[in-house]
Amino acid sequence: MSNFIQQITQKYQKTVLAKAAANLASEARDLLKKYFSDLGDFPVPKIEIVNNPSSKWLGRCIYNNRDRGNTKVQIQRTILADEKSRRRILAHELVHHVDFLLNWSDKDLKSYRHDGHGTFFQERAAKINAIEGENFVSKTSDEEIIQSTDKDYLLLIIPRERGLAFQWTFRPSSKQKEFIEFNIKNKNARLIKTKDLDWTHGKKIGTNAYSIPLGQEIKEKLKKLYEQASTSAATSTL
Ligand SMILES: [Zn+2]
Repeated sequence: MSNFIQQITQKYQKTVLAKAAANLASEARDLLKKYFSDLGDFPVPKIEIVNNPSSKWLGRCIYNNRDRGNTKVQIQRTILADEKSRRRILAHELVHHVDFLLNWSDKDLKSYRHDGHGTFFQERAAKINAIEGENFVSKTSDEEIIQSTDKDYLLLIIPRERGLAFQWTFRPSSKQKEFIEFNIKNKNARLIKTKDLDWTHGKKIGTNAYSIPLGQEIKEKLKKLYEQASTSAATSTL
């Protein structure tokens, strides 16, 4: 009996995954049309849904010089449920996809994992973000988007000269805790716990770079969070 259940489950999951992959392919087709058609006609990448939650990446684009006409995009199963995360990761991988097909296909590459996030990537990301919103595609959006909304993370809001800045992390290391405490004590920073995915593409807590929102709406949102957060509540979350 349990064998039967297992079989049914496996069969059902296969169908679900096949459907999800087909949906992703059609989403990819739309994104290619919308954001890359000025560069040419590109095939939809082969899409593979993978399931290894322990790995750091949520999506990746693999280019293999035995198959120069296309790339393979792997997407972690965990992010499928959240539409915004899914589209963000897909858009990120499509920039790599087009980069490979456009700029790398005549080069002699061995099986090659995606190249960094250089000029091509950044220019294309800026173009997409102008429409989709700030940081929709970022250098790290395939690695650092939170996979599910039921997990709290820490958001540190720090007043800077140019306005309120933010950084975030899941579980702070002792170094990050020091950084947080220093900034609360000396820089009027405040710390909150949140599940809101809006901030997880920003810089990580403790790095030298700060993320400062540019849009009016998102600025207001951060300001509200800052005003609501009290310093005492902040320290107790550590
Ligand atoms: Zn990337």
